Parts: sequence; structure tokens; C-alpha cells
Amino acid sequence: MNIRADIVVVGSGAGGASVAKELVKQGRDVVLLEKGKLVKKVGTQIEALKYYDSLALRSSIEGFLVYSAIMGGGTTNVSCGNGMPVLGEELKDLGINLDKEFEETEREIGVSPISDRLIGRGSRLIMDVGNELGLEMQPMPKYVDAKKCNSCGFCLFGCKRGAKWTTMDYVREMHKKGGRVFYEMDVRRIAVKGGKAVGVIAVRGGKVVRVHANTVILAAGGLASPVILQNSGIDNAGKSLFVDFLNVTYGILDNKEINLAKEITMSVVSIKYLKDRGFLLSPFMFPPLVMTTITQKRKFHKLLSYDRLLGIMTKTKDDNEGEVLKNGRFHKKPTEKDNERLNEGADISKSILRKAGVKERDIFVVKPTGAHPGGSNPIGKVVDNNLKTEVDNLYVCDASVLPVSSGAPPIVTIVSLGKRLARYLN
Ligand SMILES: Cc1cc2nc3c(=O)[nH]c(=O)nc-3n(C[C@H](O)[C@H](O)[C@H](O)COP(=O)(O)OP(=O)(O)OC[C@H]3O[C@@H](n4cnc5c(N)ncnc54)[C@H](O)[C@@H]3O)c2cc1C
Repeated sequence: MNIRADIVVVGSGAGGASVAKELVKQGRDVVLLEKGKLVKKVGTQIEALKYYDSLALRSSIEGFLVYSAIMGGGTTNVSCGNGMPVLGEELKDLGINLDKEFEETEREIGVSPISDRLIGRGSRLIMDVGNELGLEMQPMPKYVDAKKCNSCGFCLFGCKRGAKWTTMDYVREMHKKGGRVFYEMDVRRIAVKGGKAVGVIAVRGGKVVRVHANTVILAAGGLASPVILQNSGIDNAGKSLFVDFLNVTYGILDNKEINLAKEITMSVVSIKYLKDRGFLLSPFMFPPLVMTTITQKRKFHKLLSYDRLLGIMTKTKDDNEGEVLKNGRFHKKPTEKDNERLNEGADISKSILRKAGVKERDIFVVKPTGAHPGGSNPIGKVVDNNLKTEVDNLYVCDASVLPVSSGAPPIVTIVSLGKRLARYLN
């Protein structure tokens, strides 16, 4: 199979769908290639495991799980709906001013502080107690339509009611305007001729597909894009991986009327310590099946009280010291400093839980995991500040270009980078 287009975009997640949609709006001939399936039914735990990469068991060589989704719309499908314009200053230092794009993205996807009605009793308890402790907790900015959301707590499985924005909205828009989209297209490498990108080589249903294009934009995410680059001869890709390591501190609450698992995920947040100490705090419940993979065996009995657990996530700006290898495996473990940030957040979370009435013996912390892989093709090293690689006509536009970890939700920033790249290519 051969496909021809002016521009080929690889990956339909935050970066890929954003740039593809904008380019189609400009009237360009764009083809979007997506490895995952077009999933129509989302919203249940078992279905969700099928589209999380490796059934949500993908881990670093050192054994730390890192979550992402392989499907139409990528990881935006399973996001918590948190929208923050992060890394603005760091990007300005690299010559990238996203002020205009941030404003446009937030307006377009509908970011606003979560409606008071959607903050459940467990989250409210954490917020009230946290504020008594001076943590300045506030409603989370969300791209969730309050009229459609019933606060079911299943954001991580994809939203059944379509209340949460995902890049599938962009994919549908680009398709309506004439853009072509191919699912189950696994891109393996970039075709390069005379130092210029001339297309990509993909595999679909066991057959090789060649896509010829004048411009190639790689947006397969923080773990996949560096592999494709390395397999295309760009050897410095894959270094400096971050994953925004997070841990969750849980406590069993006696109050049976509170069930945090049935509340919208991460409805309030404390960013008091984000800038200077590198972590934020927010109420969070991992789904039950995932809990079994990150809870120490000797604490397993506590999972029997799942419906009474109150969880607080510490999400950190981790050091970008991981590495994605050419074969797709990756190195990543918390550094000493990462552990300090994780432990400090967990200690504060324990004080919140104690003050909320949880007994010391009922508190436990699960193993660190990551959900925001990025930094593996950073601006200034693998791409320039127009997101171009050393190969002419080859660009990267996803979390892999972020220069450092934000320790906070990166989607608004990645979408904004997509808008900026489309403007640059116009
Ligand atoms: C559970 C969870 C909750 C999250 N919640 C939030 C949140 O509330 N707010 C926020 O801002 N961020 C959140 N994030 C992080 C956010 O979703 C990601 O950082 C963001 O989606 C990354 O964008 P991306 O374009 O780099 O990658 P992705 O969105 O993952 O897109 C990459 C795309 O490339 C495709 N692909 C991969 N390999 C290939 C290949 N070889 N060929 C073709 N296509 C390929 C994938 O299927 C995918 O569609 C969350 C992440 C997780 C895991």
C-alpha cells in the first residue's frame, strides 16, 4: 500500500491531533497515522486495560510502571481532564512564547475551574483539612463539561458521557474538513533521502505501508517517538526521559458515606509547593486492578476497604535522567532527589489523612509510577525551537520535546505547541 500527502502526522494524541487539525484548517493536504484502534466504547475498567499500553503493565527496565494509551486520541482519552498551561517560562527561555496559543487552547477545549457541584465529599474533606494545614487547595482547572459530567470517577477509563474533551474532537474536525486518518498503522521509521524526510514506513495488518510526504511530523509520544527517531538514524534521541513520578498516600476512613472512587478524579489541587519544592497534591484513586500492581503484598488486605480509601497523589517534577532505547525498552527509576520530593509529598499527605480522622496504622503509600512520559527529544538538543530535527522536513510535536518535567498536567502545553508548529509551517 502506498499513500501520498503533503504532510504526514504520526500519532493522534495531544500533539499530533492538534497540529494535524490546524494544518487541515489552513487547507493543507494532511494524512494522520495512528497505531491504535478507533475505540468507540470507552468508560469501563476492563475495556480500558485493552487500550492502555501493555494492559497498563508497561514498565521501565528498573520496574517502574509508566502509563499511556495506544488508541485513536492517544492518552488524552484517559486523562483526568486537568488543564494547566505549564512550562511557559521554561519555553520562553528557549525562545518559544506560547501566551497566545495557551489562551486559544484553553478557550477551545473549555478549561475552567471545576464546578463546585462536582467536588465530592471525599475531595472536599481533603481540601478543607488541607487548607487548615495551610496548603492553599483550590478547585482544579478542568476541560470537563459540567452539564454532562455525573462525577462517576471513571475518568481514567475514558468518559462514557463525552463530558471530557479529548483530541478525538480534533480528529473528527480534521476528518470533516478533508484530512485523512488511518488507524492501526504502526509507524516504524522515517524515510530519509539526501538528508530530507520524504515520508514514513509503517506496518498495518502485517503489511508494509509507505507514506510519501513533503513534511513529516512525529507525535507518537514520549516513549515511542524517540524509538522511531533512533531507528531512522537520529542517535541522540531518547535521552533525558522524565515521567512526572507520582505516588499516592492512602488511608482507610471510618466514614462509610464517603467513597472517593466515585468522585471525579483530582477535583482539587494544591500547587503551593510546585515551583520551589517540585510537587503538587491532589485527591486520587487508582482503579482497583491497578492498585493490585503497585501495593506492597503485606498491605494487600487494606485493599478490601477500597470503597473507604481516601487517596492523595503527590505528583513531582522528576529529574530527566531516564533513557528510551532503540528497541523500545527504557531506563527510569527515581533519583535521590525524586525520592525526596515523593517522600515530602507523602509526609504532608499523611498529615492531611491523620487530621481527617484516619488512624496511623491504616495509612500506606503505593509504589511510584509515571503517567507523563516526555523530555526524550528535548528542544535545544534533538529539535530546535521550531521543533525541527537535524533532518530537513522532519519535526517532532509531542511530550518528548518538552525540555523538563512540569510535575503538572502537560496537555494544554502540548496542544499549544501543535498550534504553534502549524503556524510556523504555514
Ligand atoms: C492516566 C493518565 C491521566 C492523565 N491525565 C492528564 C490530565 O488530566 N491532564 C493533562 O494535561 N495530562 C494528563 N495526562 C498526561 C497526558 O495524557 C499526556 O502527557 C499527553 O497525552 C501526551 O501527549 P503526546 O502527544 O505526547 O502523546 P499521546 O497523547 O500519548 O499520543 C501519542 C499517540 O501516538 C500513537 N502512537 C504511538 N506509537 C505509534 C506508532 N509507532 N505509530 C503511529 N502512532 C503511534 C499513540 O497510540 C497515541 O495516539 C494523563 C496521563 C495518564 C496516563
